[in-house]
Amino acid sequence: MGEEVDGNTVLAQSLKQQGVEFIFGIIGYPVIELSMALQMADIHYVGMRNEQAACYAAQALGYLTGNPAGVLCVSGPGVLHTFAGMANAQINCWPVVVIGGSSPQDHEGIGGFQECNQVELARPYCKYSARPPSVSLIPLHVEKAVRLSKNGRPGAVYLDFPANILSAKVDSTTIPRQYGPTEIPLIYPDPVKIQEAVELLGQAKRPLVIVGKGAAYSRAEKEVNELINASNLPFLATPMGKGVVPDTSDRCIGPARSLALQKADVILLLGARLNWILHFGRPERFSPDVKVIQIDILAEELHNSVKSAVAIQSDIKTAVSQIVDSLKQKKFEFSSSEEWWKVLKRKCEDNRKIVDGMASDVQPPLNYYAVFKNLYENIPEDCIIVSEGANTMDIGRSMLLNKLPRHRLDAGTFGTMGVGPGFAIAAALYCRHYEPKKRVICVEGDSAFGFSGMEIETMARYKLPITVVVVNNSGIYTGMEPEVFKDIQDSGEITKVTPPGCLSSCTRYDNMMALFGKPGFFVQTVPELKEAIGQALKIEDGPTVINVIINPTADRKPQTFNWLTESKL
Ligand code: ADP
Ligand code: MG
Repeated sequence: MGEEVDGNTVLAQSLKQQGVEFIFGIIGYPVIELSMALQMADIHYVGMRNEQAACYAAQALGYLTGNPAGVLCVSGPGVLHTFAGMANAQINCWPVVVIGGSSPQDHEGIGGFQECNQVELARPYCKYSARPPSVSLIPLHVEKAVRLSKNGRPGAVYLDFPANILSAKVDSTTIPRQYGPTEIPLIYPDPVKIQEAVELLGQAKRPLVIVGKGAAYSRAEKEVNELINASNLPFLATPMGKGVVPDTSDRCIGPARSLALQKADVILLLGARLNWILHFGRPERFSPDVKVIQIDILAEELHNSVKSAVAIQSDIKTAVSQIVDSLKQKKFEFSSSEEWWKVLKRKCEDNRKIVDGMASDVQPPLNYYAVFKNLYENIPEDCIIVSEGANTMDIGRSMLLNKLPRHRLDAGTFGTMGVGPGFAIAAALYCRHYEPKKRVICVEGDSAFGFSGMEIETMARYKLPITVVVVNNSGIYTGMEPEVFKDIQDSGEITKVTPPGCLSSCTRYDNMMALFGKPGFFVQTVPELKEAIGQALKIEDGPTVINVIINPTADRKPQTFNWLTESKL
C-alpha cells in the first residue's frame, strides 16, 4: 500500500507536472479544496470576480507566454460563465485549460445542486472536452488536455470534475505514471511551395506582406523582421500582429492600409485569416486578381474564403526563415524607386496630415485623436497596451504604435467586449514574472470598461500596477451632452426616451480608486492628461484609473469604406 491521495491533489499535481503555472478562477462548491491543493502544488492562484474575466486572463497569459494557463470554476453557472472566454480563446487561436467542478455523480438526473451537462455544453467552444472517469485517469486526461490546447492551432480545452471524483481517495501506487509536457512540434514547409512563393514575390509589381497574430504567436519576430529588412517589401499588420515588425518601421504602410489592400497584386499572408478583419480577401477591398501566398499552421485554413495562389502549411518561423534564405540567394530587393512605394508613401503622408490636424484640436471637450496623440507621447515605448471599445479601440490602434511583438491585446477576432481588465491582469502578471520593468496601459472605452470593471479589485488585491485609461464619451458609440442627459432623466419616461447607447453623463470612474483609498485621476484637458499619466506611472503597488472625459459625439475621421458592409461577397 502506498500513501492515500485524493482527486484534488492528483489534479493539482498533474497540472503542475504539465507545466501549468497560473490558474485564474473563483472558488465555491465543489472546488474549494482544489484551489488549496493548487497552491500546495506550487501553482499561482489568482482569484477573480467573474469567471468570464478569469478565462480572458488565462488565455492572454497563454498567448503572452506560449504556455497554457488554467481557469478554475464552480459547477453550473460558473462553467457557463467561462464559455464567452472559451469561445474567445478558440476563435483567437489561444491556448487555455478550463477546469470545472460539477455536481456529484450520484446526484445526476435527480436535480443535483448546479447540475449541468457541462461536458456537452463546453464542446462547441473548445478542442477537447472530457470528464476523467476516475482519480487514476486524471493525469492522463490533464496531459492530453494541455497538449491539445497548445499543439497545432492552439485553442481552449475543458475538463470536468464531479465533486465525488475530486474528494475520492486512492492508493497513490495505483495511479499510472504520466510523462511531463511534450514539446510543441515545429512544422516545416514544403520546399517546393517555398520556391513558388519566392518566384511569385519576385514577379510582383505591387507586393504586400500582411503580418497577423499567428506570426506573433509563433514568435517569428526575428525571421519576419529579417524578411522585411532584407527585401524592402511594404508590410502592414493586423491589430494583434502589430509590433512583430515595429509600427515605426519605414516599411510599415499601416496609414495606407485600404489602398495597399485594394491595389496589391501579390500578398504574402503570414498567420492571418482572410476573415472580416481582412475583408474576406475579396473585392472591392482587394483586387479581384490578387495572388495570395498563404502560410498557416492549420491545413484546414488554407484557401478559406479565396483560393490562394500558393498555400503553405507551416509554422511562420520556419517558412519565413526559408523564404528569407531564398530571397537572399537571389539577391532580391524590392526597389524603393518603384512606383508602388511612391504611391504608398504619398498616401501614408496624406493620412498622417489628416490625423495630425485632428489631434492638434485640443479644445475641450477633447476628441479621440488629441487624447491618443498625447497618451502615446507620454507612455513608455515598451509598455503592453490592452485596448477595447468601439472608437476607442479602432482609433487607438492606429495611434498607439507598437514596437514589440505581443504588446497589444484587444477585442480580437471575436470582437469581445469585457476582455480588457482580464487581459491587463494577465499582462501585469507576465511583466512581474518575466519582464519586471514593463508597464501595462489598459485603454478602455467607458462602455467596454463596464463589462468587467470590478476586476479593478483583483488588480488592487494582487498589487498589479495597471494604468486603466477610460476614454469616456458617456455612451456606446456616442453619448449625450450633460444638459441633454439631464433633460432625459427628468422627463418621466426614462426607459422610453433614453437612447439605448446612452450611459450616465461624465461618470466618475476615477472615484472607483477611493474603494481602495488610492488616487484616481479626472481629466478634461491635455495638460491634465499629461499630468495624470506622469502621476499614474509613479504608482507601482497597484492599479489606477485615469478617467478622460471626451466629447460625447466625438467621431472617427471620414473612412473610405464602411468597415463591414461594403465587401461584395
Ligand atoms: P489576425 O487576427 O492577426 O488576422 P487570425 O487570428 O485571423 O490573425 O489568424 C491567425 C492564424 O495564425 C490562424 O489561422 C492560426 O491557425 C495561425 N497560426 C497560429 N499559430 C501559428 C504558427 N505558429 N504558425 C503559423 N500559423 C499560426
Ligand atoms: Mg463610450
